[in-house]
Amino acid sequence: MLVQSILKGKSAGVVTIRPDATVSDASKVLAEKHIGSLVVSEDGTTAQGILSERDIVRELARIGSGCLEKSVEHYMTRDLVTCTSQSSVEDVLTQMTEGRFRHVPVVEDDQLVGIVTIGDLVKAQLTELAMEKNALEGMIMGH
Ligand code: AMP
Repeated sequence: MLVQSILKGKSAGVVTIRPDATVSDASKVLAEKHIGSLVVSEDGTTAQGILSERDIVRELARIGSGCLEKSVEHYMTRDLVTCTSQSSVEDVLTQMTEGRFRHVPVVEDDQLVGIVTIGDLVKAQLTELAMEKNALEGMIMGH
């Protein structure tokens, strides 16, 4: 299964934040949108990094509430792992598991076209496995 089949079932658009926005602003967006990470982008289409709720919690524990007034670029992860819509779900799940992150932006021709979460990928794989199981049971039972 390819990432493109997952993007089809998701609302279009990726929530981004500018690198010069404050961590406090980022926290508000995460809470309002009920999401766990923001792609950091100057122009809304080119990904420069990612800021996850984990980055914020880590800095709150490390330096305290002062981090909320710092800009997002201080704490974002710059070394971004991305995929394309033609990536296989299995490959992306492996990257997430090995890298210990739950979000992967989908990028094509340097443009952000979507984002997939570990929840999206696991759900799609479970659905596919259930369909395969039903098909195999049908073959064994002869209908
Ligand atoms: P997450 O589990 O996605 O909330 O993020 C855990 C950590 O991995 C945080 O430090 C994020 O900034 C970082 N991270 C999240 N997604 C990615 C990604 N696609 N590529 C690289 N780092 C990431």
